[in-house]
Amino acid sequence: MNAFLSLALSVILVGMSHLSAAEVDPMQRLKQGNDRYANSSTVCHEDWTAKRTSLVEGQKPFAIIVSCSDSRVPPEIIFDQTLGHLFVVRMAGNIVDDFAIGSIEYGVSVLGAKLILVLGHESCGAVDAALKGMKFDNHIQEVLDDIQPAVDATKGRKGNLLELATKQNVRNVKETLKASKPVLAKLFADGSLKIEGGYYYLDSGKVEFFK
Ligand SMILES: [Zn+2]
Repeated sequence: MNAFLSLALSVILVGMSHLSAAEVDPMQRLKQGNDRYANSSTVCHEDWTAKRTSLVEGQKPFAIIVSCSDSRVPPEIIFDQTLGHLFVVRMAGNIVDDFAIGSIEYGVSVLGAKLILVLGHESCGAVDAALKGMKFDNHIQEVLDDIQPAVDATKGRKGNLLELATKQNVRNVKETLKASKPVLAKLFADGSLKIEGGYYYLDSGKVEFFK
């Protein structure tokens, strides 16, 4: 796309959505939303009836969030987004299985989201349990087994091992998604889909973004 067309498209998008040019970029929208949330200046408390009815015909979420089930980390709230904005896949430890990947494929190829954010968080109970080597004779163990490679990768390192393992787990999940065939790997390869990692701090409410 040439510069003129790109500018024209930006103007149209801004006119349609009342967003600034910077906010049209999915990462900028998430960063700005998290800033609003962390600073208690959220804007996504609105006339829900009007918002609901405007979305009855369909959805076009701008980002997919892969996050933990933890009740303190709800993506729509911490990124100050509203109905129709985020396509969210949540499992303890922000891990992904075939069902999660199938959901992500749908969000990308059918709904048109252009960004995946894998989001870990401070004091993640799932990563903590894996780090402590806890054993369960139920399905919780399967969650811990999936996180285990991140724990193994941080063994012997200095610093906050829980934070290091949680961030490593985010990176591992990103790699899993980047290599996922047939849909995601192809879209990453041709540049039409991007993926980022993030780490949420419970106290400040801020998300640290990292590669
Ligand atoms: Zn967690």
